[in-house]
Amino acid sequence: MGKVLQTKSLFISAGHSDSDPGAKGNGYTEADIVLELRDMIADELRDKVMFAKDGERGENLPLSDAWRTAEMHDVAVELHCNAFSSPSATGVETLSARKHYPFGEALCEAVSDTLGIANRGAKGEASGQHSRLAFISRGGGVILELFFISNPDDVARYQRNKEAVAQAVARVLIDEVAPPTSTGS
Ligand SMILES: [Zn+2]
Repeated sequence: MGKVLQTKSLFISAGHSDSDPGAKGNGYTEADIVLELRDMIADELRDKVMFAKDGERGENLPLSDAWRTAEMHDVAVELHCNAFSSPSATGVETLSARKHYPFGEALCEAVSDTLGIANRGAKGEASGQHSRLAFISRGGGVILELFFISNPDDVARYQRNKEAVAQAVARVLIDEVAPPTSTGS
């Protein structure tokens, strides 16, 4: 394997913790899901690229601090689950500024392909159940709404395939911060 040149700094954030568990559904809270996945993604990134995360294993720093850290990094991704009153709502989407839509689309495609759920695409910051304007507009970050915690099928697919989701998301993150070069050997 050739050397990878990392051109951008990376921050990964779990959007929730026990003090702010987020949406609930089908036996899980957002905190259960995003804390575990952030740590699984970190395991995939370790030794490949440098990155920062918002807390030690199983821990998440206060939400108000996340955008400040996001602002210091070129690429910042915060993990969430979507939720809706109808349990049939399904799929993955990202929320971000328009300039991050291509990166958001790549994240959506990775999760959609891995779970076999709808790709709802890259959207603006006002979409979805979250209003995390600071992380997006002040921190320059991307919110990844992995799937609908309110949908039993989305949750079951995720629980069966979460290792593969961590690997697929990590691959997109690595490509974003350390793009493969044609001159590398
Ligand atoms: Zn959330």
